[in-house]
Amino acid sequence: MEDPRPTGSPLDAAADIADSHVVDAFKLLSNETRLAILLALWEEYEPFADGNTVAFSELLDRVEYDTSGNFSYHLQKLEGHFVETTADGYRLKQAGHRIVRAIIAGRGLADVTLPPTEIDADCTMCGEPLAIAYENEHLYTVCTGCGGKFSAGEEKPSGTVMGFAFDPAGLARSSAEEIFAASTFRAMQKFTMQMGGLCPDCSGPVDSSIHVCEDHDSDGICTNCGRRDEIKGRWVCTVCKNSGHGPPGDNLVLHPRVVAFYADRGVDIGYNTTDFETIVRTLELMTTHDQELVSTDPLRVRVTVRYGGDELRLVIDESMDVVDVEA
Ligand SMILES: [Zn+2]
Ligand SMILES: [Zn+2]
Ligand SMILES: [Zn+2]
Repeated sequence: MEDPRPTGSPLDAAADIADSHVVDAFKLLSNETRLAILLALWEEYEPFADGNTVAFSELLDRVEYDTSGNFSYHLQKLEGHFVETTADGYRLKQAGHRIVRAIIAGRGLADVTLPPTEIDADCTMCGEPLAIAYENEHLYTVCTGCGGKFSAGEEKPSGTVMGFAFDPAGLARSSAEEIFAASTFRAMQKFTMQMGGLCPDCSGPVDSSIHVCEDHDSDGICTNCGRRDEIKGRWVCTVCKNSGHGPPGDNLVLHPRVVAFYADRGVDIGYNTTDFETIVRTLELMTTHDQELVSTDPLRVRVTVRYGGDELRLVIDESMDVVDVEA
């Protein structure tokens, strides 16, 4: 089959995206009243409701604008691109929904931080309590005892064990444990999509590859690659450059054969849950997955999952597809 991925220069692709109608669309939004109109339409919007339109007079009331003449002018500017007009009034188009969702999620808008807050889970490497911290729109899990999994030079809080992109809206939960579980579950799902070749951000095709440290020092954090794991998977979206990385043994945790292996032994590893206990158990089991380089040409890595004396082995190729399963 022909490779469906775009082959042109990424700059050309970016130039296409930045052509005049996109610039015009962004210009339309640089006005307080227009943003208020989008937010007012969104407030009135009910998922699964019929119609979802708002009458002109109601919209004018909600936005609390003085003169209807000027208000119509702003509303007209949004029509077509972000707002749709029907016989009953106005409603958001998909593009309008996306803009409002980005505003609600707080992406790139507010500098939200959360100082390290201890959670009811311990570091699997040193046994000391873990904490969560939020900065740069990432939720970090940090160890209060050891140096974590990353070298000190990286732009991560010290002692970082895991760090995942997480929208500020994700912090709207009542406990640090709930925030931790939601962020971890979201990351697991994103890794699963990336492993399947789908960008969780833009739906574009993802390139997966495996990197093996050539001079790995497995005693703590390697001075050559700056990581604890010798074998790492990497994903890069060929369209939006969204990227991720992690040991393949971790990222196979939601593979159907792995989920089934644990389920057959009475262990639920949280295929679809933000339950804190389940997420912690899943993470603990993940750390027991061994990964081993079995050949370099072709590149093959074997991930071994063990439970109660039983083993499941999955062999993956250079693009992290599972090519063999040995039970
Ligand atoms: Zn630790
Ligand atoms: Zn290394
Ligand atoms: Zn993408």
